Amino acid sequence: MNPELSVVVPMFNEQDVLPLFAERLRPVLDGMNTSYEVVCVDDGSSDDTPTILQRLRREWPQIRVVRLRANAGHQAAMSAGLARSLGSWMVTIDADLQDPPEVIAEMLDVAKREHVDVVYGVRTDRTTDTAFKRTTAEGFYKVMGKLGAGGAMNAADFRLMSRETVDAVLALPEQNRVLRLAVPHLGFPSAEVGYKREARAAGESKYPLSKMLKLTLDSITGVSNAPLRLATWFAGLGFVTAFLVLVFALISKLTGHSITGWASTMVAICGFGAFQLLCLGILGEYVGRLYVAMQARPTHYIAYDSLETPTTGSQDLRR
Ligand code: UDP
Ligand code: MG
Repeated sequence: MNPELSVVVPMFNEQDVLPLFAERLRPVLDGMNTSYEVVCVDDGSSDDTPTILQRLRREWPQIRVVRLRANAGHQAAMSAGLARSLGSWMVTIDADLQDPPEVIAEMLDVAKREHVDVVYGVRTDRTTDTAFKRTTAEGFYKVMGKLGAGGAMNAADFRLMSRETVDAVLALPEQNRVLRLAVPHLGFPSAEVGYKREARAAGESKYPLSKMLKLTLDSITGVSNAPLRLATWFAGLGFVTAFLVLVFALISKLTGHSITGWASTMVAICGFGAFQLLCLGILGEYVGRLYVAMQARPTHYIAYDSLETPTTGSQDLRR
């Protein structure tokens, strides 16, 4: 019998917060009067996360452990968990207790009551995030909105989805799928539930600047070709400038004022060089993605799934 609800939790080196997370999540799920599974996706952790998960699993039979062979990143880990979940409803939630587990019950209620396929968790209060995180996040959602991405501001990856929605999302062929943009794009009926973003309960953020930049780049190139058009605009600007410089040089020649310094030449060379590099860079971004898509490599490899390969101890978990 498949459970009604699957709770998918991507986690990377979360040994500090895991026991707290389980302690808070379990009463919520047990109190919901529904069958459930907790799909813990260990995103290639190198700390004690695997061992702690095995311990938790012995005490809490609804826990499933899916371990990825290497760190595939938050988005890929979530996709991995969703692809292996058995529930009719699926919730994705962070392991660090920034998304309050209590909201899951509310999400399922709203979905059933309003007959919607997706319930977005929307952060109404981000005061616990750092100022840097808040400003960059705000910029992110604004830019995405301008580029034509649908979806609510401040709706990240705490969301409930029906199986139909998840199947549709997973059927998308794109490689660097950003779920918070892909799900609204599909346009399934949806509702929102507001929640207060809490502070991380323990441990440190697993989203360094490099991962934030990757997410931003994946998001922009995933929703829009506008950056490619930007290259064309820059090229147009370059041609106009070149023409003006030519006119200026001709007038100087005819009026007998020969161009003296080579500085202006150098400036022009450097300027155009920069434009060309910029255009090449933007093109490269898309060409790179075409290449990755052509290779059609899976975004993650499953090391094991505790449902299929029951393990008895924790000694071999790192293999
Ligand atoms: N995470 C993951 N793989 C990664 C980075 C993060 O599975 O490569 C998980 C992490 O363990 C957490 C969630 O993604 O459950 C969100 O990460 P985090 O809380 O560190 O991000 P922040 O809240 O700082 O943006
Ligand atoms: Mg967090």
